[in-house]
Amino acid sequence: MIKRLLLVLLASAVSAAAQSTPAGTKAADATAPTTAPASKVKASEDEVDNSVVITPFRSLTPPEAKTSRTFQLSKLNKPGFTETTKELQRLYSAFAAQRIVDGSPAGSSKAIGYLTPVNYAIVQDLGDNRFLAKAAWPASGPNEALAAGVDTMAILLLEKPAKVGDTGKITGMHVGTVALLFTATYPPLSGKRLTIRRDAFVECVTLEESAAGLRKFVEAINAGAEMSATTNEQVPCKKCGGLGFTREAQKGQLLDKRVPCAECASTGKAIVSVETKFVP
Ligand SMILES: [Zn+2]
Repeated sequence: MIKRLLLVLLASAVSAAAQSTPAGTKAADATAPTTAPASKVKASEDEVDNSVVITPFRSLTPPEAKTSRTFQLSKLNKPGFTETTKELQRLYSAFAAQRIVDGSPAGSSKAIGYLTPVNYAIVQDLGDNRFLAKAAWPASGPNEALAAGVDTMAILLLEKPAKVGDTGKITGMHVGTVALLFTATYPPLSGKRLTIRRDAFVECVTLEESAAGLRKFVEAINAGAEMSATTNEQVPCKKCGGLGFTREAQKGQLLDKRVPCAECASTGKAIVSVETKFVP
């Protein structure tokens, strides 16, 4: 419940920030205490400003899959079709890994950001279960759209309270690169008021992959639910038609010159992100 609320808060902050970012500096000017009484200004100088402002500034829309195709359940294991049980299993695994468990009627929703395991060590508590942490995560998303992090400062929204020094591993949903305005409490920056831009992750639980889950998945599609999975697929290179080279006619010679294909580094193969939509 708390997680959902925070997620909604974070998501609404994102859309608000997306609209207000270009005018951000203007807004800051407008709130500067130019007309505030002198005594008030003096008081705020003496106090340590420990407020935390997290401003997401990048839209969460992940890059769309390059191509899409359908997987028709009624063709399953019929001769001449690519819809096999093995392929269904593989796509269902991808589907499960791209869904987060929540309170929606279906029990889960499509993740709005890339999911990746995140190892962390908490550096500073930012309040409301938000933390600044030293983190590491592998690359994720089609063609590694989310780059890997190695010993990287990141902002985490955890399910449970934690304290500085705690370490752990979560499934994190990437929710963009956000700007964090805060007063550091860790050396050597203790007491410094800083703005940093870091990747942010929300802790979540992915759909568990099971035979029962697969049955439910198939039932839902047959009942008309719209489901899709995005995977990286190897396809023949378009430029060279999968040959790894292109031909160039040579004047006065019978044989064409073979030019290595730069597009696919002569492998003849390309990796593209494909969205597979499931239909009954
Ligand atoms: Zn090629």
